[in-house]
Amino acid sequence: MRASIAIHKLTSCSGCQSVILNLGDDLLVLSRLVEIRHFIEAGLNDFDADVDIAFVEGSITTPEDEARILKVRERARFLVAIGACACSGGVQALRNVKESGGWAGAVYANTAYLDSLAESRSVAQLVKVDLELWGCPISGRQLIATVRALLQGVPPVLPTEKVCQECKRAGNVCVLVSRAEPCLGPVTRAGCGALCPSFGAPCYTCFGASEQPNCEALGERLVGLGIPQRQVAERFVSISSGLKPYQDEWQRLRIPAKQVD
Ligand code: SF4
Ligand code: SF4
Repeated sequence: MRASIAIHKLTSCSGCQSVILNLGDDLLVLSRLVEIRHFIEAGLNDFDADVDIAFVEGSITTPEDEARILKVRERARFLVAIGACACSGGVQALRNVKESGGWAGAVYANTAYLDSLAESRSVAQLVKVDLELWGCPISGRQLIATVRALLQGVPPVLPTEKVCQECKRAGNVCVLVSRAEPCLGPVTRAGCGALCPSFGAPCYTCFGASEQPNCEALGERLVGLGIPQRQVAERFVSISSGLKPYQDEWQRLRIPAKQVD
């Protein structure tokens, strides 16, 4: 009998699910390897199915997310968090570090129908997570490799080194050194193939923290290059603002608004 999987969605933009949907021929490979029981974006709706592997996209941001993740955990042998939202709280976790009281009112005409928790949390903050696949969005290649490894009964091998290593292997010219761009590749986990620097753009941490992230040294280096301190501080809290090493550097560098107005 084939192993079964489910792909669940909590609070998120559905970008990681879209990566799976856009796998092309690899999606056919995936459907031969496993039985896909729940994947709303592909039209398969069986939320209550027991499965071998549950992939979970999205952060815990609403009371509904809290209730759903408990059920997902009960019904899965392995639970794999996919994407920056599920692994760190995502961009929604900006509310965890910033004064966010006025944000909803700036976007919605009527906030009475919103039912959000005070903080955005990663899946691992509520239930046991067996594996995390990082990225915003995830790498489809990593997802397929993970399914193959779990089916063989071996732990998937995921990189913990820094994006800089991939950048060097790709032969990129460093945007930090050559153009003084605020690249956070030196403190970000590899796995994307150095996507942004390969197109001349600085990394903004979507694969989360690398092994031994020396955020303080990098922050000092970026400020030393002449990038305004406040701008450097804000770079550390964007897509992965739920992570402590990045929060700590933001706290260290940030200048209270009243000092710069
Ligand atoms: S461009 Fe960024 S990721 Fe690439 S080597 Fe330079 S600092 Fe590292
Ligand atoms: S370079 Fe950085 S921001 Fe860009 S895809 Fe890779 S990890 Fe994400």
